[in-house]
Amino acid sequence: MRIFLNDRFVRKKNARVSVFDHGFLYGDGVYETIRSYGNRIFMRDQHLARLQRSAEAIGLDIPIPLSEWPALLHEAMRRNDVGRQGLDAYIRITISRGEGEIGLDPALCARPTVVIIAKALSPLPAGLYQTGVPLTVARTRRNLPEALSPHIKATNFLNNILAKREAIAAGTFDSLLLNWNNELTECTVSNLFFVAGGILRTPAIECGILDGITRNIVLLLARERGLSYEEGRYTLSELYEADECFLTNTSMEVMPVTTIDATVIGSGIPGPLTRMMGNMFADNRARFLEPAR
Ligand code: PLP
Repeated sequence: MRIFLNDRFVRKKNARVSVFDHGFLYGDGVYETIRSYGNRIFMRDQHLARLQRSAEAIGLDIPIPLSEWPALLHEAMRRNDVGRQGLDAYIRITISRGEGEIGLDPALCARPTVVIIAKALSPLPAGLYQTGVPLTVARTRRNLPEALSPHIKATNFLNNILAKREAIAAGTFDSLLLNWNNELTECTVSNLFFVAGGILRTPAIECGILDGITRNIVLLLARERGLSYEEGRYTLSELYEADECFLTNTSMEVMPVTTIDATVIGSGIPGPLTRMMGNMFADNRARFLEPAR
């Protein structure tokens, strides 16, 4: 495996970061998780734009110009022999504040650390898409946006990790997090949708969620198909009474949810709108890929 580290590709065993890196010391950094379908990266510019926004939000200058990133990502795939016909790539970009003396002041770090990991994407078992997955509702609340904005894809991921631990303890696929106001937000690495009263619903950005790229595609496809949808503030009881529920993220696409703690959602199998959305996503995917190189 070859890892891009700062300015070159190195072997995995040589891809080492300082213990004084503020990413390690304080979780001071940002990241993106991207994928390809074959050789073409999904929503490449949107992921890079979000990386840029996250970096700006924490006052971090990405040391590589935006224009160089597409070629760099392809080089990372090429060097690892992924991102080709039959072998989709998972790409993780991490940019931390960099190495510096102990202390919170970012100025202690001369330059950010840049890492790109490209490897084969391991798809989830196909059976999960047939049966749907169980969730638990985490006791951990989603970060208060005014404390740490969920819009920043930060390497400080403890909020989500604590919720993930709860899912593991409960033996469920993932945890659903509520916000400070008892409203639905999202899961640890995905956005939430549900269907109630024939309307597709998803928590509004203001509830304190990541502005998910897949979430936006689902909303776009719903709009194009003339489906009724709503972004709003919802309670857990509204979700318990829902007819259908699903999750979205870049690597998972559209994943049906069939139980939440002890509550069976709808008829306990992936619902018609969820299946339709999954199919629409697959049928339209090519529109959201970068041009073939
Ligand atoms: N919410 C959180 C907290 C995430 O970490 C992610 C993705 O990693 C998502 C939602 C889904 O975002 P996207 O569709 O852009 O992958």
